[in-house]
Amino acid sequence: MSTTGNQGRLWAITEVTNRTPRVIGNGAKASEYFGCNTFNQKVMSEKLPKDVYQSLLKTISAGHKLDQNIAAAVAHAVKEWAIEKGATHYCHWFQPNTGGTAEKHDAFLTVDSSGGAVERFSASQLVQSEPDASSFPSGGRRTTFEARGYTAWDPSTPIFIMEGPNGKTLCIPSVFISYTGETLDKKTPLLRSVEYLSKNALRVLKLFGKTPGHVEATLGPEQEYFLIDEAFYSLRPDLVATGRTLMGAKPPKGQELEDQYFGSIKARVLAYMQEVEHELFKLGIPVKTRHNEVAPSQFETAPVFELVSVATDHNQLTMEMLRQVAKRHNLAFLVHEKPFAGINGSGKHNNWSMATSDGENLLEPGSTPAQNLQFLVFLLATMKAVYKYAPELRAAIASSGNDHRLGANEAPPAIISVFLGDALTRVLDAIEKGDLKGATTENQVINLGVSKLPEVARDNTDRNRTSPFAFTGNKFEFRAVASSASPATPMATLNAAVGATLGEIADAIEARAKKGGDFDKAVMDIVREWVIETRAIRFEGNNYAEEWVIEAERRGLPNLRKTPEALAQLTTKQAEELFTKSGVYTHDELEARYHLEVERYIKDIEIEIACLKEMANTQVAPAAYKHQANLVGAVSGLTGIGLKGNLVAGQVAEVESVAKLIADLKDSLAALDKAVEKAESDDIERKSAALAYSVSDAMAAVREVCDRLEVIVDDTLWPLPKYREMLFLS
Ligand code: ADP
Ligand code: MG
Repeated sequence: MSTTGNQGRLWAITEVTNRTPRVIGNGAKASEYFGCNTFNQKVMSEKLPKDVYQSLLKTISAGHKLDQNIAAAVAHAVKEWAIEKGATHYCHWFQPNTGGTAEKHDAFLTVDSSGGAVERFSASQLVQSEPDASSFPSGGRRTTFEARGYTAWDPSTPIFIMEGPNGKTLCIPSVFISYTGETLDKKTPLLRSVEYLSKNALRVLKLFGKTPGHVEATLGPEQEYFLIDEAFYSLRPDLVATGRTLMGAKPPKGQELEDQYFGSIKARVLAYMQEVEHELFKLGIPVKTRHNEVAPSQFETAPVFELVSVATDHNQLTMEMLRQVAKRHNLAFLVHEKPFAGINGSGKHNNWSMATSDGENLLEPGSTPAQNLQFLVFLLATMKAVYKYAPELRAAIASSGNDHRLGANEAPPAIISVFLGDALTRVLDAIEKGDLKGATTENQVINLGVSKLPEVARDNTDRNRTSPFAFTGNKFEFRAVASSASPATPMATLNAAVGATLGEIADAIEARAKKGGDFDKAVMDIVREWVIETRAIRFEGNNYAEEWVIEAERRGLPNLRKTPEALAQLTTKQAEELFTKSGVYTHDELEARYHLEVERYIKDIEIEIACLKEMANTQVAPAAYKHQANLVGAVSGLTGIGLKGNLVAGQVAEVESVAKLIADLKDSLAALDKAVEKAESDDIERKSAALAYSVSDAMAAVREVCDRLEVIVDDTLWPLPKYREMLFLS
């Protein structure tokens, strides 16, 4: 198949037209095989000695340190189970700072001195492993972040088996740390953030007379993605190298008819989704919802929420399965935030709440005034966290891909604000205006309508889709998270921020309580102060409107438009204090994270530049030359037989306009080179800022010319699959 002319495209269209849904013949009831590839509690209770099982359970559900003495018994049981299931290899599965996952497989097979072979798996192999850390990004801090690191089993997510085409692998969820104790992954900071959140939430709960074992953050990530046929994908160097199309003219029909959202799912895609779900069920991942999204060829899957650390691991596995199974269906899974310009991008809505180990959702409005008081405290702590730590939260969602989405009038803007909905807004407004002196608190609470809060939970009618951080009944939905990103960093940041403000509100309540007087009234006074203090972060209007940008500026809310400005928020005194005090990052780890992410941003853009230039020079320009030559041939043919005047003029004008566009293409490429040259600097801050603005503008200019050529060049000469093909044929 050729990539010049339109032969490649024709081949792809033929492939696509002949595809049929892949049938796996799965008739089994999901509940019968759910979690069959996980070493879950049921398996543990069957396979482990009782005392070992009890001890391990304490580690898993109560966060106790793993008793090293039980490791041998667990390793033995895990090995027996895995081999019985057909596993030949094992690996520590972890999440390095690349944002993806990593695994290095070792065989169970060992050969003894007599040449006999036997399967072995020791306690130390279960608990610890040593991948070579030097090839993972560490933020350029090799001196402190020693190359040698190790992975350590994290029992909070069940051990699982991944099926490969010719065998199975036992995967041990792990954290990744250097020998000097610094984190080299995304998981460890997340686990630390939960501990911090728990500690402070427990302080608040104690004031309300409650003493659960611990508090957890819960997460239900809604995952958006695109699917296109892999034949088209293979003909698009930009999708392969960068995950997004760097050029491509607007299709005659885009998403303006809005006929895709929640529409019936095409058989081929449905077959794909069903196979993904089948694989995820085996891994014990509770995927629940599937539907078409707003854009053509865009879809969503969402699980039932779980503890944040488990949900994060499961989201990584979900993305991995979406990718793997797509290949089986001759589809390409696109998880980039903006694969197609002018078409909605993809996000990952992080539905988040806090729950006690007794199962109480702390963001559930209660049915009694007392419960509602507690709810208000957790609500206000969250609002203040989002208000105060908006810069850190913005930094947590920053990436080159998300820059195309945030603020593109389809996704929440880069300005962080909180949406509460009518009912809750009325309650907070009443609290703000209410004269609380005098009467007993309980009555006031009732008078203020707080006792009516349960209705809020059911009242989801006035959902605001434009808000980056919205209250949705009994949880918040952080919508600005990037579709390709691990939820780990945004969730660790949110947990740390809310942990900090819960600590603050506990301090305030304790101080007030010491002075004596009515507890409820003291709490209500503080709630009122915080309602007033956090007023600026509340926004119920249209976050896409131009007026909001102006209004937000007036309110003093940061508008960090692009990744470099957003990441710079990690270098402030406030960020340092938040992350070191919460223990989520040490000073060095935070600095490393900053460098790592700025470097990642620079690399992303540099790859895009190289890819764009190659496509423009080797695919777009040659097609344009041929088209121009054909036109020139036509004109000289006409003049050769003596035609002139208006019989020739139109075609001459066409030659001129193509020649002009080719000249524009050359100029725009030269301008891009110049901008890149100017951006070059040893100072990564300067360089990333230049890439974000002058270089990105220059890239957009190249793209614009390419897109104009696409709609005039002879279709039989155009080598790149067009939007109208990729998005509508599958
Ligand atoms: P939507 O209407 O936005 O699709 P849903 O009510 O279906 O929202 O829920 C979206 C996600 O929120 C699901 O993954 C769901 O499990 C999750 N979710 C529900 N309650 C909680 C909670 N208390 N904590 C975290 N996530 C939750
Ligand atoms: Mg949602």
